[in-house]
Amino acid sequence: PAWEKRVRSSARVRRASGKSVLVTGAAGFVGMHVAAALKRRGDGVLGLDNYNAYYDPDLKRARQALLDRAGVFIVEGDINDAALLRKLFDVVPISHVVHLAAQAGVRHALTDPGSYIHSNVAGLVAVLEAAKAADPQPAVVWASSSSVYGLNSKVPFSEADRTDRPASLYAATKKAGEEIAHVYNNIYGLSITGLRFFTVYGPWGRPDMAYFFFTRDILRGKPVSIFEGPDHATVARDFTYIDDIVRGCVAAVDHAGKSTGSGGKKHGQAPFRIYNLGNTSPVSVSDLVSILEQLLKVKAVKKFVKMPRNGDVQFTHANITLAEKELGYHPTTSLHSGLKKFVRWYLEYYSTSLSKQASEEDRSISS
Ligand code: NAD
Repeated sequence: PAWEKRVRSSARVRRASGKSVLVTGAAGFVGMHVAAALKRRGDGVLGLDNYNAYYDPDLKRARQALLDRAGVFIVEGDINDAALLRKLFDVVPISHVVHLAAQAGVRHALTDPGSYIHSNVAGLVAVLEAAKAADPQPAVVWASSSSVYGLNSKVPFSEADRTDRPASLYAATKKAGEEIAHVYNNIYGLSITGLRFFTVYGPWGRPDMAYFFFTRDILRGKPVSIFEGPDHATVARDFTYIDDIVRGCVAAVDHAGKSTGSGGKKHGQAPFRIYNLGNTSPVSVSDLVSILEQLLKVKAVKKFVKMPRNGDVQFTHANITLAEKELGYHPTTSLHSGLKKFVRWYLEYYSTSLSKQASEEDRSISS
C-alpha cells in the first residue's frame, strides 16, 4: 500500500553509519527541527503526530510541508494507538525513538488536565511498550523538562537535585515520565535517555510561549504582561536556542548506543541517563521584552503584574556539566542572536501566510 511505501522510503537510511529514527511529535516545534537535522545527516527518519489543536494547526501543517520536502513522512496518529505503533515497528526496523510528542505548556493544565495524563503519562507508556516489544529494541531518547525541578530553590539546577516538588500538573507528568522510564529500563532493559529541556525558543516556535506572543502583541500595540515574583523579584528563564537543543538531541541519539557513562546507572546492559539541556545564562522576562523591542523597533506597552499561582516557577537555570562531559553539548547562541533569527522568521512567516490567506480569499470571492 502507498502508506507503507511512504513509511519505508522515509525511514530509509542514506549513509552506512546512519540510524533509522522514529520522531514522535514531528509536527511540533522541537520535533520538526530534530527530524530535519537527523535527515540532513543521512539518517532515515519517520514522524508521528496527531496534529492536535492545542495551538494553531496551520503552523503544524506548515512544519509538515517543510519536512515533506526534506523527505520525512509524518504518519498522522496518536501515540496511544498501540496497533499503529506495532505496525510502524513491523514495517521498518527502528534503531532509535526520539519521543517528543507531549502536551506541553503549564497553564493549559488548569482547564484540560486530562490531556496531560493522556499524552505525557499514558502516551509515554504506550511508546515504551512498543519499544519493549519491537525487534530489534530501539534506544529511546525522550523529552523531560526543566519543570521537574519545580519549587526547588537552589540554582543552578543539577540532575541530582530534588525533583519532588512539581509546581504544575505538566511538571508532575514529566516527573512521572522519568519514574516510568526508569521502570522500563530496570525491568525490560530498554536503553533510555531523558533530556530536561530549558525554555526552548526559535524559528517555527510555539505560539503559546511568552517570547512568541510578546512578539505578536508588541507588533499589534497590545500590552504585554511582565510577571514579577514576591517583592518585585525577577522572573527569569534559561532561554535555550533551538539549534543548541537539536545538537543536544542528536548527540543523545549517538550516545544512546554506548555503554553507560557516569550520567547513568547501569541495569543489565542498558543505560538510563538524564541530562539537562539548557543555556546556563538566565535572562529576566523584562530583558526579554527589551531585546524584542530593539529587534522589532517598536516600543512595548509594559504591564508589570504579580506572578499568578498558575504553575509557573520564578527562576530556571541549568547546570550542564554532565551533558558537556558526556554528550559534548555546548550551547553557543545568546538570547539576542537567537531572537534575531526568530524575529526574522516570524515576520517572514506571517507576512507570507497572511498574503497567502488573502489571495485564497480573493480567489474564493472571484470564483
Ligand atoms: P509542541 O507542542 O510544539 O510539539 C509536540 C507535538 O506532539 C505536537 O505537534 C502535538 O501535535 C504532538 N502530540 C501531542 N500529543 C500527542 C499524542 N498523544 N499523539 C501524537 N502526537 C501528539 O511542543 P515542543 O515545544 O516541540 O516540545 C517537544 C517536547 O519537549 C515535549 O515533550 C515538551 O514537553 C518538551 N519540552 C519543551 C520545552 C520547550 O520550551 N519547547 C521545554 C521543556 C520540555
